[in-house]
Amino acid sequence: MSFDYDLFVIGGGSGGVRAARVAAGETGAKVALAEEDRYGGTCVIRGCVPKKLMVFASEYADMVEDAQAYGWDVKPGAFDWDAFKAKLHAELDRLEGVYRGILKNNGVESFDQRARVVDPHTVELADGTRKSAKHILIATGGRPVVPEFPGSELAITSNEIFHLEKLPETMLIVGGGYIACEFAGIMNGMGVKTTQFYRGAQILRGFDEEARGLICEEMCQNGVDVHLGTNVIEMAKDGDKIRVKATNGTERLFDVVMYATGRAPNAGDMGLEDLGVERGRKGEIVVDEYSQTGVPSIYAIGDVTDRVNLTPVAIREGMAFVETVFKANPTPVDHELIPTAIFTQPEMGTVGLSEEQAAAQEPIEVYATSFKPMQQAFAGRSQRVLMKLIVSRATRKVLGCHIVAPGAGEMIQMAGIAVKMGATKEDFDRTVAVHPVMAEELVTMRHPVRSA
Ligand code: NDP
Repeated sequence: MSFDYDLFVIGGGSGGVRAARVAAGETGAKVALAEEDRYGGTCVIRGCVPKKLMVFASEYADMVEDAQAYGWDVKPGAFDWDAFKAKLHAELDRLEGVYRGILKNNGVESFDQRARVVDPHTVELADGTRKSAKHILIATGGRPVVPEFPGSELAITSNEIFHLEKLPETMLIVGGGYIACEFAGIMNGMGVKTTQFYRGAQILRGFDEEARGLICEEMCQNGVDVHLGTNVIEMAKDGDKIRVKATNGTERLFDVVMYATGRAPNAGDMGLEDLGVERGRKGEIVVDEYSQTGVPSIYAIGDVTDRVNLTPVAIREGMAFVETVFKANPTPVDHELIPTAIFTQPEMGTVGLSEEQAAAQEPIEVYATSFKPMQQAFAGRSQRVLMKLIVSRATRKVLGCHIVAPGAGEMIQMAGIAVKMGATKEDFDRTVAVHPVMAEELVTMRHPVRSA
């Protein structure tokens, strides 16, 4: 049977573009890709990349103060949102062009339209055109979800935050996950009076308790008004502001309310139900370790499968898919020991098990130190950092590494290699310290602070 394409990819984000490019460029497969929105997907257009640029922008106010403390004759000025926003979007346009270029240069045919699957080997584009393909790869990502309650339509999400007409004076951020905590720091750093509501007892549920406790404490020190155990009951328009009634009995006005209460897979309205492609509880596409669905010609990667929702993981899944299907080298995706960074202020880098997860699994030793880093302490800041290793008492392997510090994301990439290789505490110890840097503490902690 002959097909129009060897592979049809639906979704032009990190995972889809990588799979399409590698399949076409490295194996000579005939590949097409459909994208209804902008190329680059969540990461490039409305996620990691613009978020990180906003983190950088938001950190300059403190840097100017610190520069003064170091003897520089500089004065803090106002932040110009319009100037930054124009530059930010020009950069995103440039990156989108790069993504389009990657596809074109590798011979991938792209369609700027929505696509749905009509049978195991056929995709239908929004204009009604049908294309056949030997394999179909769904890489449609996810989208933010706002729970339903009176006035919920007044909330924006992380999709809209990059397009604000002007910087608000006051803002409420709801949620306690990655996105809520990162944007609380960003908006606060940009000079917005920022309030954060989180319904649980401590932000960043699932991460190491000591680490998230320190982050919350530092966020409050930095000026974010964090309310734990607090949720929104209802919201209503009040002039050009939003009146928010909360479970803590308060009623307050905010210029902008942003919800960051989780994301849902983009798997609806794609024809999957009719084909018998299984969907999970959150609507995610269920796949096996090779990213294959129950329909053998249909695969799915990235956030639409709701495994580990991170860009580098989607890219890995895309590469493993190409290895498996186009290079005759069945490659399962390894989701173990994924290092990750959370760009809160202070930043967190983490790999492996939290103290709580490890202690529930086996006897452990905990090595931890918290101190004032030299650069900030000299500038008169009281900010603390945390370096923490969780060690198995039986094997001496480092089961988890948690860093809360400026540059923690950079540090954890390196520590992640050692942990992934199965390094023991003694391997860390026999590594000579780099001096004077914060991370040297990772190899100089001699005695456990506790055992469990
Ligand atoms: P998360 O699932 O991480 O967090 C959602 C937050 O919203 C939780 O604090 C949750 O509370 C709370 N919540 C959920 N439902 C409600 C509700 N009905 N009312 C009030 N609060 C609610 O989602 P995010 O949107 O922050 O991030 C999505 C994913 O994106 C992450 O899991 C991550 O994989 C990825 N990401 C990664 C980044 C990075 O690598 N730096 C940056 C940004 C995103 P509770 O804890 O009680 O459930």
